[in-house]
Amino acid sequence: MLRALLLYLSKATWARRLLTRWRVTRRVADRFVAGDTLDDAVRVTRELNARGLLVTLDHLGEFTTNPDEARQATDDLIRLAETIQQEDLKAGISLKLTQLGLALDEALATEHLARILEVTEPKGIFVRIDMEDSPWVDATLRIYDTMRERGYRLLGVVIQAYLYRSEQDLRRLARIPARVRLVKGAYKEPPEVAYPKKRDVDANFDRLTRLLLDTALAAGAPPVSADGRVPPIPAIATHDENRIAYAEEYAAHIGLPKPALEFQMLFGVRRDLQERLAGEGYPVRIYVPYGTEWYPYFMRRLAERPANLVFFLRALVRG
Ligand SMILES: Cc1cc2nc3c(=O)[nH]c(=O)nc-3n(C[C@H](O)[C@H](O)[C@H](O)COP(=O)(O)OP(=O)(O)OC[C@H]3O[C@@H](n4cnc5c(N)ncnc54)[C@H](O)[C@@H]3O)c2cc1C
Repeated sequence: MLRALLLYLSKATWARRLLTRWRVTRRVADRFVAGDTLDDAVRVTRELNARGLLVTLDHLGEFTTNPDEARQATDDLIRLAETIQQEDLKAGISLKLTQLGLALDEALATEHLARILEVTEPKGIFVRIDMEDSPWVDATLRIYDTMRERGYRLLGVVIQAYLYRSEQDLRRLARIPARVRLVKGAYKEPPEVAYPKKRDVDANFDRLTRLLLDTALAAGAPPVSADGRVPPIPAIATHDENRIAYAEEYAAHIGLPKPALEFQMLFGVRRDLQERLAGEGYPVRIYVPYGTEWYPYFMRRLAERPANLVFFLRALVRG
């Protein structure tokens, strides 16, 4: 109920206007966001790299509704790729196709992504296409296939365990085999397309983890690249200790080496767990968002954990 309300507010223009006007919203959001600028992103990435953690950078923005903004977002991502190279960061890029204009025109978003990959691929920088709400899943997977057909290889996708369709999608992606980030899913979805109950999502997450780890083993267990930029086939992205323990146990059971299994977490969430897993020898990648368009990202983080909302409300009362 509360989750549904917060996810509704994450998309409501009136709520965005109201909440972003309050300085306290920004203060709480800072826990999850590196800052407004590319310099902030570089600084945070350096700090994380120094602690043995890898990074994927998200230049915040989604659901672009005009072509100029989509072009601007593409230019910004190209600048990000150049900066990763110049600053020698152990980082890749995460992006959203609606940021590149998918809601306006699929062909436009496809060409924008191709422009980005023309720059990232020769530099050895990996790009992950985040997965958005269910109406975009088909187009997202289609654009991924198009880029593979055009010869791009340093590109990955995301599969959401809450969707009924995900096992089928993952089986098809396993034939490539695609580099896949597995998540539970962050959006408000109807029961026609997604498991409404958390325990069903968790069970599906473990089932998809097995499938993904088996795929990695069958492909010869490619490890994370030596420069830390290109992830292995499976990226298990969760802060749920039971899901993580399950993946660790299953990998040990089938004999998948640690460098062939990446864990991913969000900036500002469970730093202790991030460091423990990195200390055990797994690649651990932190999803670091930056930029001024932080509102919907922040609201999804509130929706994931009631304690975050309580923290926000307390800050609001204190002023
Ligand atoms: C690297 C990464 C990339 C992602 N990319 C996508 C994507 O492309 N598409 C998509 O739909 N979703 C994405 N997500 C979000 C994901 O779908 C979940 O909404 C999110 O990870 C919370 O679920 P959980 O797996 O951590 O499990 P949960 O069962 O929600 O949480 C497990 C425990 O983790 C802690 N926790 C979880 N979330 C938070 C939080 N925000 N703040 C503080 N503690 C928290 C809590 O202690 C909680 O009890 C991504 C997540 C990660 C980590």
